[in-house]
Amino acid sequence: MNSYTQNALDEVKKLGAKKRVETFLAKIKEHDSQVGSFIEVYDNWALEQATKIDEKISKSIPLGIMGGLVVAVKNNVSIKGKRLTCGSKMLENYISPYNSTAIQRIIEEDGIVIGSVNLDEFCCGSDCLKSALKVTSNPLDLSRVAGGSSGGSSAAMTAGFCDLTLSEDTGGSIRCPASFCGVSGIHPTYGTVSRYGVSDMAMTFDQLGPIAADSLGNAILLDAISGFDEYDSTTFNSKKTNYVSSLNKLPDTLKIGIAKQFFVGCDNEVEKSIRKTITDLSKNNPKIVFEEFDFPLIENALPIYYLLVFSEFASAMQKFDGLRFGNKWNENDGTDLASIVSAVRSKSFGTEVKRRIILGTYITTKEHQDAWLTKALQARKLLVDEFDKIFNQYDLLVGPTMPMVAWKKGELSSDGLQMYLADVLTVPANCAGLPAGTVNVGNCPTNKMPIGFQVIGNRGSDELVLQFMSAIEKISPAYPFKPVF
Ligand code: GLN
Repeated sequence: MNSYTQNALDEVKKLGAKKRVETFLAKIKEHDSQVGSFIEVYDNWALEQATKIDEKISKSIPLGIMGGLVVAVKNNVSIKGKRLTCGSKMLENYISPYNSTAIQRIIEEDGIVIGSVNLDEFCCGSDCLKSALKVTSNPLDLSRVAGGSSGGSSAAMTAGFCDLTLSEDTGGSIRCPASFCGVSGIHPTYGTVSRYGVSDMAMTFDQLGPIAADSLGNAILLDAISGFDEYDSTTFNSKKTNYVSSLNKLPDTLKIGIAKQFFVGCDNEVEKSIRKTITDLSKNNPKIVFEEFDFPLIENALPIYYLLVFSEFASAMQKFDGLRFGNKWNENDGTDLASIVSAVRSKSFGTEVKRRIILGTYITTKEHQDAWLTKALQARKLLVDEFDKIFNQYDLLVGPTMPMVAWKKGELSSDGLQMYLADVLTVPANCAGLPAGTVNVGNCPTNKMPIGFQVIGNRGSDELVLQFMSAIEKISPAYPFKPVF
């Protein structure tokens, strides 16, 4: 089967890694001013890395899992000696003192890191318009958003600026932008990938994962970065799986659930396209049974997610106090601690980050904790238990990734709420730490924007999710992408 990522791997051997990097660099130079995906491009370093790969190839030394593929990295992941801005003024000039485990592994496995890409400030958002550094546009229609918070990653993929991206998903930040830009991605089971060296948004939700052109790209990156890490005690202490070699081994017989609630508030065209894909999949895989079921508790996922994320986020942001981490204070900021902290935070954080810090602080105060935080934690437990029961009946759940296609910039109000609602279908998986992937299954007939199909698995069934994503690609290949330039 013609696979975008397979072609890229073949090209490395035929053309050489350096030639490919040069081509990507030229493309970025020519077009990224329109898209706004890169925060920094590592021209020299990428060429150096490519030269090493070419040397290996010329000496017939086998390449690692990454096979010389070119990777762009969401700028909340530490790369030694490079800026780690998190899309915020607060960290605009901060240089990472060490490599995150994921980056270390990508390099060891012969991946080439080409640059860092844009994100909503500290990952707060679904449109990539909330970065303090730049606006990212959807390469398929520049008047529309690329999705968020990993909009720089999805835009870079669709624009053809790299082979793969390393991204992060707390509540949909991989799946939303992948869906909006017509590419694919997976949020792995919580604990699959080390978070060491990743700037945390909400520790009990955050997970690194790929945004790629296809399931092979997702599987390759996940093979490279997953596995136990002594620096992150939440990583699984289990044997490493091989996602690539199992990609085409989808079991014949599966029972797949479709929650009725997945279509509540979903745009008509999105629903039609998802239902058509389900029909096509059943025709292609006669032993796979699809069944609709009722999942009323899932309606609580959005409030659970936001209440807990606000709380964890407010706590994660406390370290940026103008003294030790991030922007430092100066004599105009006041003379006492409270004024200094307040002055530095006021000028260095954007509106959405401030909103979440204020709400999170409110929710976690002693007086209000029981009314909000404790209830959200209890509800999260109920949701997790319900998912466990559901996965006793079904192998996978499927439905739309996002209830709509990429919206036009300015179309959603900036008060937060409308945007929070857009996450209704992605956050349930994060609340329960479940693997969830998205694959493109076509375009909306009226505006031609891509529609993403979501596959959610039980904890630890990332392999099955990827296998199913690969089966979808057989009936609905996502590429070639057609950026506007
Ligand atoms: N839209 C979600 C939010 O704003 C996405 C966050 C994420 O996954 N990093 O919270």
